[in-house]
Amino acid sequence: MHQIEEKWEEIKEYIMTEYSLNPVSYKTWILPLKFQEIKDNTVYILIPTENSQTLKYLDTKYKKVFQVAIAEMFNESFDVQFVLDNNREENDEFTDLTENINYKNANLNPKYKFETFVIGSNNKIAHSAALAVAESPGEIYNPLYIYGGAGLGKTHLMHSIGHFTLESKPDTKVIYVTSEDFTNDVIESIRSGNQSTISKMRDKYRTADVLMVDDIQFIIGKDATQEEFFNTFNTLHLAGKQIILSSDKPPKELETLDERFKSRFGMGLIVDIQAPDYETRMAILRQLAENNSKKIDDEIIKYIAENVKSNIRELEGAFNQIINISRIVNTDHITLETAENALKNIVNHNQNELITPDVILNAVCEEYGVSTEDIRSTRRNQEIVTPRHVFMYLCRQIIDMTYEDIAKFLMKKDHTTVIHGYRKVKEDIMKDPEYAARINLIKNKINPQN
Ligand code: ADP
Ligand code: MG
Repeated sequence: MHQIEEKWEEIKEYIMTEYSLNPVSYKTWILPLKFQEIKDNTVYILIPTENSQTLKYLDTKYKKVFQVAIAEMFNESFDVQFVLDNNREENDEFTDLTENINYKNANLNPKYKFETFVIGSNNKIAHSAALAVAESPGEIYNPLYIYGGAGLGKTHLMHSIGHFTLESKPDTKVIYVTSEDFTNDVIESIRSGNQSTISKMRDKYRTADVLMVDDIQFIIGKDATQEEFFNTFNTLHLAGKQIILSSDKPPKELETLDERFKSRFGMGLIVDIQAPDYETRMAILRQLAENNSKKIDDEIIKYIAENVKSNIRELEGAFNQIINISRIVNTDHITLETAENALKNIVNHNQNELITPDVILNAVCEEYGVSTEDIRSTRRNQEIVTPRHVFMYLCRQIIDMTYEDIAKFLMKKDHTTVIHGYRKVKEDIMKDPEYAARINLIKNKINPQN
C-alpha cells in the first residue's frame, strides 16, 4: 500500500488546518473524498457522487491544494485527478440544462455563478454557507439569511446557489424573485379578486423546493404582501424546503419588522458580507481583466483598487469606464493618466469616505466661532443652537449619517431633536438664500469636489 493511501485521512486533516477550512467546507467537500489509486505519478481521488458540478468545483478549488499538501507531506510531487463515482446507479440520460423547464422558471442570471464569485475575507463565511445550502437544500441552514450593503454580492451568491442546485439536481424547483416581483405577484392576484388567480400565485411559491427572495427589506410594511410571505415561509419551512433571503440589515435591525418574522428569520443561519478589502478588490479586478480582450496593466488595476473601495458594483463600474474610454480613444495601451481621467468622477465621489463627523464638526465650529463643546452641550442660546442644527444637517447631507448616529455622536439620548434640527435647516435654506449660501460655503470647505 502506498503511503499516500495509508495516510489518506491525515492528508485531509492537513488540508483542513493548513488552509483553515471552516467546518462547513470541510464536511461538504473534503471529508467525503476517497483515495482511489496511483497511476503514472497521478493520484486519483474518488468523489462519491456522479454530480459533475461537484467535480468542476473540486477541480478549480482543491486540485492545487491536494497537490501542494501531498508534496509537503511526502516530499514528492504528484499530479491530482478527481474522478466521479460512475458505479453509482445509472445516470439519467443527459438532460440539456437550457431546455430544462425548472431552469427557465428559476429566473437566474447566467453570469452569477460560484465559478465567477471571488472569495475574500469579506465574504468567506457567506460563500461557504451558500455552497453548503446549494449542496443540500433544506437540510442544514434554513432559512439562510444573507445581509450586507449594496453592491457587495448578495444577489450574485443567491443566483449561484440556484445554478449549482439546478446543475446537480435538475428536477429541483428553484425560484428566485426580488421582493418587488413577489409584491407585484401578490398585489396583482389580490386585485384580480379571482380565487383561481390567487391559488395560482400561491401554488407557484408554495411548491418551490428552493425559494430565494432578494432584498426582503422592501416587503416590510406592505401588509398584504408581508402576510402572504409569512404564510409561504411557514408552509415551505415546515415542509423542509429551503428558503434563502437577503437584506441590507440583520433581522434585528429591521425596525418595523414584526417579531414573528425576526424570530423565524433567525431560525437558520444569518451571515453577512462586508465591504471588500484591498486584496479582494485586486482579485476581483484581476478576474475582470482576465476576461477582457484589452490588456490592462497591473498599475491601473492597483490604482482602481486603491481608489474605489465602497463596493463591488462600483469597482466594476470603474473598470468598465476605463475600458470604454480606451475604446473611444482607440488605444490598446491604457496609460495611468487615461485611467485617472476616466475615473475622476467616481474617485472624487469616494473621497466622501474620508469625511468624518469630526471633520464636519470642526468646519461648522470654525464658521460660527463656537467650540465643539458648545455643540455637544445642552445650552440652548441661538448662537449655539443654529450651528448645532447646521452640523446635524450636514452630517446627513454629506455623509448620509442616520438620525440615531448623529444623536449618538452628540451624546444625546433622543434622536428626535436631530430630526427637528435637520428639518429646521432645510426649511430655512428654502426661505433664505443668504443662509443657503452660507451653508453651501461650509459644504464646499468640507468637500471641495462637490
Ligand atoms: P448586492 O446584491 O449585494 O447589491 P450584487 O450581487 O448585485 O450585489 O453584486 C454587484 C456586482 O458585483 C455584480 O456584478 C456581481 O457579479 C459583482 N460581485 C459581487 N461580489 C462579487 C465577488 N465576490 N466576486 C465577483 N464579483 C462579485
Ligand atoms: Mg442585490
